[in-house]
Amino acid sequence: MGMYAVRLWSVRHSRLLESFYQGFERIIVRLDPLWKRIGYERLEQPVAAVERQVKGLLFDCQMCGQCALSSTGMSCPMNCPKNLRNGPCGGVRANGHCEVKPEMKCVWVKAWEGSQQMLEGKAILDVQKPVDNTLKGHSSWLRVAREKAGARAQPEGRAS
Ligand code: SF4
Repeated sequence: MGMYAVRLWSVRHSRLLESFYQGFERIIVRLDPLWKRIGYERLEQPVAAVERQVKGLLFDCQMCGQCALSSTGMSCPMNCPKNLRNGPCGGVRANGHCEVKPEMKCVWVKAWEGSQQMLEGKAILDVQKPVDNTLKGHSSWLRVAREKAGARAQPEGRAS
């Protein structure tokens, strides 16, 4: 199976991957005290390397550092040639393919299909923040762990 085929497989199995990720996320958030003890900075490089391998294989991940897969049907928006975070654009071809890369199905058409099978599928309707390029190359997993654990530790309403 080529890389592109794996990417399409992931969208077809978005529900399974969503469940898997939710469990994985619970664990990494709970392990925040351990990550703190080791040092998030020290973990950054090795974890990002693993994340790049795993998500590169499954999603053609470009390591934007701010993963949106949970709300994009497991179809990575960074594979849209226009890097749209709130797609699709007006250029989707009648057959659902991309106007820039006609051989590729529109990332956002796939995102919609994937999201329809997911428990949190409605998240695709949320407006996504523009991409913050300073996060490129960083681990999204560590960022989620740090942010979610931090939000829990904060008093009500102060979570960012
Ligand atoms: S949204 Fe970002 S972190 Fe998530 S798979 Fe795409 S490039 Fe990787």
